[in-house]
This record gives sequence, structure tokens and C-alpha cells, in this order.
Amino acid sequence: TKKQARGGFRFFGKGGNSNVRERLIIGSALRDALQKTQLHLVYQPQICALTGTLCGVEALSRWQHPTLGFIPPSTFIPIAEETGQIEAIGLWSLDKSCQQVIEWELNDVYVPVVSVNMSAVHFCSMDLPDQILSVLQKYNLAPQRLTIEITESVAMRQDPETAANLTAIRDIGVGLSMDDFGTGFSSLSRLAQLPLTEIKIDRSFIENFENDISSLVVAEAAINIGKRLGIKVVTEGVEHEAQETKLQQLGCDILQGYFYSRPLPANDMSLWLDAFPT
Ligand code: C2E
Ligand code: CA
Ligand code: CA
Ligand code: CA
Repeated sequence: TKKQARGGFRFFGKGGNSNVRERLIIGSALRDALQKTQLHLVYQPQICALTGTLCGVEALSRWQHPTLGFIPPSTFIPIAEETGQIEAIGLWSLDKSCQQVIEWELNDVYVPVVSVNMSAVHFCSMDLPDQILSVLQKYNLAPQRLTIEITESVAMRQDPETAANLTAIRDIGVGLSMDDFGTGFSSLSRLAQLPLTEIKIDRSFIENFENDISSLVVAEAAINIGKRLGIKVVTEGVEHEAQETKLQQLGCDILQGYFYSRPLPANDMSLWLDAFPT
């Protein structure tokens, strides 16, 4: 489904010329970034709050362009969504991530689960469940070892394609995580109907834990919702020990953030595991 093949026009109104130029340059550079292996993935550890052991990693894209330099995903992912390149990026990261889990294993590095970010744009493609299935088969990877992260905007869409995809993906046996929880517009009744295995509380809610009571209230409520739904709760952006302690007290299941590790190149995972106290 090529819905918005040339979706550039609306930027002329709001962004001014430099913005348009940037988007044109980045959009066309992205076209061969994939072929020329300028894109790579880094992996951020996720820690089990109860045992302090590694329970998974999140795969995050990085783009180092030879002349433009480092371009962050917050810049190129939205452009890729506009230009129709996001499906290629999604498939590439899915394939790479599954391949990496197997490759780690061959090197005695056991990473239980890899989480892959999937764009809302890619999510309305009816091909997605089959694409996921064939990557799992390609690497002979158990579906429980893969989690797909979706945003609230995907989860709350009412169109039949998205609903069918959510069900089909759950039926394969892979995990489904709602990312950036609390920043969107989820209706709680709809949330309870979705076939989620995990919710992921956005970093913004634990940033000012100590000073901002309202953030704490949201985080606490999200953890309780997850518990009542019988699904895992992850918190991202854990940077300090005080946040860890608080989240452990609240009963959060999985912790992720700079306090444990920055996102790492695949080859550094075994070094990090050796140094990480468990
Ligand atoms: P996200 O999915 O919410 O990913 C978490 C972001 O927070 C990552 O930024 C990560 O590096 C950063 N982070 C992790 N721990 C900490 C911490 O303790 N403190 C702070 N301040 N930040 C932390 P990153 O890698 O720049 O990615 C930004 C966003 O770009 C991601 O947000 C995700 O929405 C998107 N993204 C990245 N890679 C992909 C991809 O391959 N596909 C898609 N569709 N989106 C991607
Ligand atoms: Ca994510
Ligand atoms: Ca997130
Ligand atoms: Ca986030």
C-alpha cells in the first residue's frame, strides 16, 4: 500500500525553505543508505527488575552518512515515513535483529528477547505478519524471542487492517509492546482489548520522579494497569539509582536506560555482560 507516495507538499507551509531542503536531501540520501550499509543497529539492554539480569535488548537504528555526518533516528524516521522508505527500514531492522540474536548465541552470548520498533505507517501494510513469519523462519528463531514495539497511535487505530495485523502478529507468538505509553491518547477500555504482551512507560514520566508528583502518579497507574491486565511493564530512560529503587518498589518488571547501559554495538554486548554485575 503506497498511500502517500510523494508526501512532501505539506512541509512547504510550516517549515520554511531550509526544512524542505533538509528533507529533500535526507530523503534522497536515505535511498542508498540501506544498500551502502550506512545504517546499522545498536542494542540497549533491558534488565529484569527482580533479578537484575538481562532479559532483552531494544534495537535502535543509527545512520552515519559519509558527508552529512550522524543523522539521528528522530530526524530520518519521520522522513522515511513520508517518502515510503519506512517499510524497507522496518524489514531491514527486523531481519538484522533476528540474525543478531542467533549470531550472539553462536558466540555464547544469550539475549532472551530482541525488541524491534515498527512504524505506524508500516503497520497498516497487510504484508507485515507474513514478513515477520518469514524472517523468523529464515533464522529459525522462536517467536517468543521477538517483540514488536508499536506506538499508541498504531494501537488506537480503528481500521480493520491494523486490527487484523495486531491479531495476526500475536497469533504468530511474537510479543507486542505499546511504546511511549502515556504520551498518546489511549482509551483505557481499548487498551484492555488489544492483544498486548507489554506496555512501555515513556521516559518523560520518570524524568522528574522526585520533584513532580503527577509524573509519579502516571507511572504508578501505568504499572498497576499492566499488572491488572497480566502483562509486563517496562520503563525506559532509567538514569539514576533512585529511579531504579522507586520503580522496583512500584513493581515495574523491566528497566531500561543509561543507568544500565547506552545502546551498544552488537560486538560490545559480550563485554558489557561480562562487566555487568548480576
Ligand atoms: P524510543 O523507541 O522511545 O527509544 C528510546 C530512545 O531513548 C532511544 O533514542 C534511546 O537511545 C534513548 N534512551 C535510552 N535510554 C535513555 C536514557 O536513560 N536517557 C535518555 N535521555 N535517553 C535514553 P534514539 O535511539 O535516538 O531513538 C529515538 C526514537 O527513534 C526511538 O524512540 C524510536 O521511536 C525511533 N527509532 C529508533 N530506531 C528506529 C527504527 O529502527 N525504526 C523505527 N520505526 N523507529 C526507530
Ligand atoms: Ca521503542
Ligand atoms: Ca520508547
Ligand atoms: Ca520514548
